Amino acid sequence: MGKLLEVEITKKAFGDNLVLSGMSLGLEKNRFTTVLGPSGCGKSTLLKAIVGLDSEYDGTIRLNGTRVSGPMKECGMVFQEPRLLPWLSVKENILFPLGKSNEPNLAELLIILELERFSKSLPKELSGGMAQRVSLARALISLPELLLLDEPFSALDIVTRHKLQDKLVEALRERKTVALMVTHDIEEAVYLSDTIHVMKQRPSRIVKTYEINLARPRDRASPQFTKKVSEIYRDLRGHLMIL
Ligand code: ADP
Ligand code: MG
Repeated sequence: MGKLLEVEITKKAFGDNLVLSGMSLGLEKNRFTTVLGPSGCGKSTLLKAIVGLDSEYDGTIRLNGTRVSGPMKECGMVFQEPRLLPWLSVKENILFPLGKSNEPNLAELLIILELERFSKSLPKELSGGMAQRVSLARALISLPELLLLDEPFSALDIVTRHKLQDKLVEALRERKTVALMVTHDIEEAVYLSDTIHVMKQRPSRIVKTYEINLARPRDRASPQFTKKVSEIYRDLRGHLMIL
């Protein structure tokens, strides 16, 4: 089976600041992949290149074998903050990328993400977790092949974060969408991912890959789960020298 996404960035710099160098990443279909790395290592820079928002780098990015050369409609993206349009309702924000007033996929997304009762609300009436669920629905409304998630839960409290992680898993399961998330949170990476690539700083590249073969749904309190989190933590603090 071919790779959904192939990233080879030989060099990405902002002026004298060399951010990515020798960044190589492949994404399998049917796997939740996470890039785990410390703040400032270039995770957002990497996602912006993948989604086609920034093409000023040396290298190639291919989606289904075709080179990415501009904003990609096959990709949905969720950012750390919801980025909703304040004058549009929940429903209008979700449908905004399609430029339509309805869509068959909408009703089901509203149910999964528990937004049915709020479809007419304005963003200012929503909690942080609800607003982030709206941005997740907006990213999934077009049934993208690839969903890019840039630390989507890091601004939320722990209860909301855990709930939304489960909602994400549920929404993806019903679709053929493949997720690529970036985060600095080891526990979150282990909870959600099939594959975790660890990214090291200066210059940033992938230095280690873990396959997470824990059964789903995952139990954060299980010994297997906590063992995996500690193993990665020890590697990051130890020979990888990231923490
Ligand atoms: P992360 O998402 O892992 O926290 P970023 O990709 O945001 O890291 O940033 C990586 C590096 O690139 C940082 O040193 C940051 O200052 C720099 N950088 C990011 N975006 C820009 C930009 N638009 N202009 C200049 N420097 C940038
Ligand atoms: Mg970032």
